[in-house]
Amino acid sequence: MTRTVRELLASERPTWSFEFFPPKTPDAEPQLWTALRELERLRPSFVSVTYGAGGSTREGTVSVTERIATDTTMTPLAHLTAVDHSVAELRHLVSRLAAAGVRNLLALRGDPPGADPQAEWIAHPEGLNYAAELVELIRSMGDFSVGVAAFPERHPRSPDFDSDVEMFIAKCRAGADFAITQMFFRPEDYLRMRDRVASRGCEVPIIAGVMPVTSARQITRIVQLSGQAFPPDLADRFAELDGDRPEDRAAVRAFGVEVATELCRTLLDEGVPGIHFITMNRSTATREVYANLAADPAVEPDVLPASDSAIAAPIR
Ligand code: FAD
Repeated sequence: MTRTVRELLASERPTWSFEFFPPKTPDAEPQLWTALRELERLRPSFVSVTYGAGGSTREGTVSVTERIATDTTMTPLAHLTAVDHSVAELRHLVSRLAAAGVRNLLALRGDPPGADPQAEWIAHPEGLNYAAELVELIRSMGDFSVGVAAFPERHPRSPDFDSDVEMFIAKCRAGADFAITQMFFRPEDYLRMRDRVASRGCEVPIIAGVMPVTSARQITRIVQLSGQAFPPDLADRFAELDGDRPEDRAAVRAFGVEVATELCRTLLDEGVPGIHFITMNRSTATREVYANLAADPAVEPDVLPASDSAIAAPIR
């Protein structure tokens, strides 16, 4: 039986995990499976698959997660959102995943479908309003390990940091075993949230979401999707390096990997319970960050997932 994230966090801190999205077209499928297979060699604690806004990518989440559970050595975590689903549909999805051996679910409310993720939220008439209700629903259906989203810079719809922390704690108390954060780039944002949550007596481990930036264009997309500002000093540095020449693009990429490595180093020093890489279905940047950490004498080898750093060396 596959292990739960709850069990993994109890035995192998920090956990190392990788996030993928279901391919939008059949042509994109080989890229996903190449990245998954390359990152499998790093022996991640678990890998997650995001849940799309609608249509075929939703079916893709279920089928990719099922295939990870049955065809690979990795432990899957399926994201699930309440968007456009009745409670009956959500129950059906959870049952399908359970039948394929998936025991880990990330319970999310999701954003309104359409071009603007910040548009007004409208619940399905027979559905759910908040992630906390989805946590309760999944919990009522069996022995799942359930995670929730955390927002170091507060959720864009929350009026302020304090109320965001209160809602986050309520979601944890609804039955979450762990949380994974929105990507962030300043360790102090994560640490402030972690410490505030802990000071309120909530001990749910908060896994840090890290995304190595590999192109300057990505920054605009990150801001659009997350509804959060990108740190201006970093944005300026990326803009300075950016250009049309291949060496400019390589410099942006190298800086993105360096920023992510430095972030991981600080988080490891701070005793983070886990690091979750947003891979964008590519493996190279994540493997480069991992190789940098493995080569750093200041990083204790036992915090890394595999002892052989050659595994992480970029495949060219
Ligand atoms: P909730 O916890 O329900 O919170 C939504 C807002 O409501 C917050 O402002 C919260 O403070 C507030 N709130 C909560 N409870 C109450 C209450 N009782 N009363 C009043 N206000 C309340 N999106 C996808 O579509 N697919 C994915 O796969 C996906 N994966 C993600 C993975 C991670 C790690 C993260 C951080 C986000 C992910 N998202 C994904 C985005 C996420 O769905 C959105 O950020 C969404 O807007 C919020 O989801 P939530 O689960 O945090 O919602």
